[in-house]
Amino acid sequence: MEHFKHALEALKARDRLRRLPDLPQQGRHIVSDGLKLLNLSSNDYLGLAHDETLRHAFLASDTCRELPWSSSSSRLLTGGLPIYHELEALLAMRYQHEAALLFNSGYHANIGILPALADKKTLILADKLVHASLIDGIRLSDADYLRYRHNDYAQLERLLEQRAADYRCIIIVTESLFSMDGDMADLPHLVHLKKRYGHVMLYVDEAHAVGAYGHTGLGLAEVQGCVADIDILTGTFGKALASVGAFAVCSSLIKDYLTNHMRPLIFSTALPPVNIAWTHFLFRQLPGMGARREHLAKLSRRLHDAVQTHYPSPVTAAAHSHIIPCVLGSNEAAVKQAQEWQQQGYYCLPIRPPTIPPDSARVRLSLTADISDDELDGFIDTFTPPTHYSG
Ligand SMILES: *Cc1c(COP(=O)(O)O)cnc(C)c1O
Repeated sequence: MEHFKHALEALKARDRLRRLPDLPQQGRHIVSDGLKLLNLSSNDYLGLAHDETLRHAFLASDTCRELPWSSSSSRLLTGGLPIYHELEALLAMRYQHEAALLFNSGYHANIGILPALADKKTLILADKLVHASLIDGIRLSDADYLRYRHNDYAQLERLLEQRAADYRCIIIVTESLFSMDGDMADLPHLVHLKKRYGHVMLYVDEAHAVGAYGHTGLGLAEVQGCVADIDILTGTFGKALASVGAFAVCSSLIKDYLTNHMRPLIFSTALPPVNIAWTHFLFRQLPGMGARREHLAKLSRRLHDAVQTHYPSPVTAAAHSHIIPCVLGSNEAAVKQAQEWQQQGYYCLPIRPPTIPPDSARVRLSLTADISDDELDGFIDTFTPPTHYSG
């Protein structure tokens, strides 16, 4: 067993040892080493996770009192309570797709869908920056795969031209809002490329966008007007939806196929019914949360402009969302900046290679709708003068 110890020591020597932090939360704050810090690393984009009015309303409902806290089984055996079908019907109706399917998490969705759909006659073409769960799903599948440069659709187009005829099915895989760079895919462009072929499917992971974008909160496909053209649109309930679990909207054919082939769906206990009811309770209210989305968008624009002024980089310039990378280059600079902000009362974390490309170490900032304008001003006031500042 010595090799386990050596491997951990090697990680520690390279400053890459991960630990499980013990971080109590107080609303939009985090308590770290006795200090109360504004959480600028949260995925609770709409600020729903700590909304007591919503929580109390749900706790007072009959559904909450009556539903069990365990499904005690996979949905394919005895865990198939009506509440799952109700949430799927709501999702299918909102997205105007034939069907929707629930999963235990976004990770389960992404490691299960691709291995179920893709076989040796399939080619997967994935954006270079897709999430680890999608990479794992690709690796677990029998398909051939290639990764195109981030958002480089000219390269994707060439790959399709060169390879399309060799496969029975091609699946293009992308995120809509990328989690480390905070930039977005051009979904209509991908739809346009896909439609040139009869055997190309488009799989879009909207994990960071569901709830936070769109007139009714459906995500970036809603903003970009192409929900109907995406074959498999997935989202998690663990981020803006302040719950747990995930979903895909798709055709009835794909839903039936996944129900018969997707191992993380078939062989894992379904989420607690009471939890599905909480998701349903929040998702039903998403269209009415436009004011939260607008406030989040306004905060995001202000922080983006301030970061780009004081710590300019092409990565920040392209990030037009509530995820704002402050790129500092070296690991030391990113670690030091995150430490300084933490000491000043702002909880944020350095992100270093290999999570991101070499020499692009950064502090990743994310905003939530329950941060006030004044709180954001306070944070921006800590920024050092612009690098080109000469006074
Ligand atoms: C967070 C995330 C997931 C995983 O979702 P969970 O529900 O947390 O498992 C999947 N894809 C992307 C792009 C994510 O950011």
